[in-house]
Amino acid sequence: MLPDNLLGLDRAALERFFAGMGEKPFRARILLRWLHRQGEGDFARMTDLSRALRERLGAVAEARAPEVLSRHCSADGTVKWAMQTAGGNAVETVLIPDGGRNTLCVSSQAGCALDCAFCATGKQGFAGNLSAAEIVGQVWHATRELAARGEGQAITNVVFMGMGEPLLNFDAATMAANVLIDDLAYGLSKRRVTISTAGVAPRIRELAGRVDCSLAVSLHAPDDDLRDELVPLNRRYPIAELLDACSEWLAQVGQRRAVTMEYALLRGVNDSLAHARALAKLLRPIRCKINLIPFNPFPGAAFERPAAATVQAFHAALSNTGYTATVRTTRGDDIAAACGQLVGAVTDRTRRSARHAERAAAAAVPVRIAAAPTVDSGAWPAVEAVG
Ligand code: SAH
Repeated sequence: MLPDNLLGLDRAALERFFAGMGEKPFRARILLRWLHRQGEGDFARMTDLSRALRERLGAVAEARAPEVLSRHCSADGTVKWAMQTAGGNAVETVLIPDGGRNTLCVSSQAGCALDCAFCATGKQGFAGNLSAAEIVGQVWHATRELAARGEGQAITNVVFMGMGEPLLNFDAATMAANVLIDDLAYGLSKRRVTISTAGVAPRIRELAGRVDCSLAVSLHAPDDDLRDELVPLNRRYPIAELLDACSEWLAQVGQRRAVTMEYALLRGVNDSLAHARALAKLLRPIRCKINLIPFNPFPGAAFERPAAATVQAFHAALSNTGYTATVRTTRGDDIAAACGQLVGAVTDRTRRSARHAERAAAAAVPVRIAAAPTVDSGAWPAVEAVG
């Protein structure tokens, strides 16, 4: 049996782990501090645990981040790591220093099953979920690297905006987010840990019950016709249902919070003033702020970034109707570390149409929406698994 990787256990899970060993659950608190505050992965050095317990831990458990395969540093200070996951894939993690902030963008899956039209990750297909330890391990590694640099500046924000759809890896992503907000571990504020989703509505409804963090939704279009093309998941959870789920999340987390609506601006596709006006109208019932992301190109992409004046006009149209809207600055694009550019190296398990056909035949399930040109039908079983 593989040893338990304790990096992936939140306080409740770690208490259960100790109880299962016949140990006092409060040891979980000591361990969380060692692992995440001190960045210590060697149980032998955790000197306020008994020697016997340290030895037992060493025998049954480990604390190990994914191995770093490569590290690139951008001219603007952005760092991108490729890390090896248990499934033999490589996922990418990006550190974005910005004034006093250090935002870490983590991956939650190797590849992505959703195949949004404008995202490089989706083009590679899907290879599997990351474990909670592999998600937290990205933060653990970056924190240790920053500490080793001796600049005294830790990670201040974590966004689940790397590779993958976190709400399709719900247990691991929410467990990881709980470690990030735990005062004994990373102690990040709930406003500084953001799970970003392409719109898995049922999981948005369950999110607040699992973890009190922030929510970003990748909207990208003000109507279903356009969103169906850009974000194929919309065919399953259309805009009305998605926004209803957002309202429910807002009701659960309370008055002063807002959803961040992300909107990638694609030249000639969703960037007109009519789109901006439709977006403003659509979002009126939802407490939200809007984050505009001028499209980040990647090889083979079918879209272009709008002119700066178009971005400004779109932004102004939203601001003038009373929205808090921001334009995301592109960071790290010289090392392909910007939004939608993360690809790592994954062995796709969804795109092999022959395998998918076999699977569909074996399950005797008709392939849904297979006729849609932008949809990789092989991606859908992963979506259905949550439904
Ligand atoms: N699956 C999650 C998180 C990953 S992507 C989600 O969909 O939210 C993080 C953000 O970058 C999303 O809003 C995504 O739509 C956006 N994005 C993807 N590709 C992009 C590109 N090429 N240019 C700009 N933004 C992009």
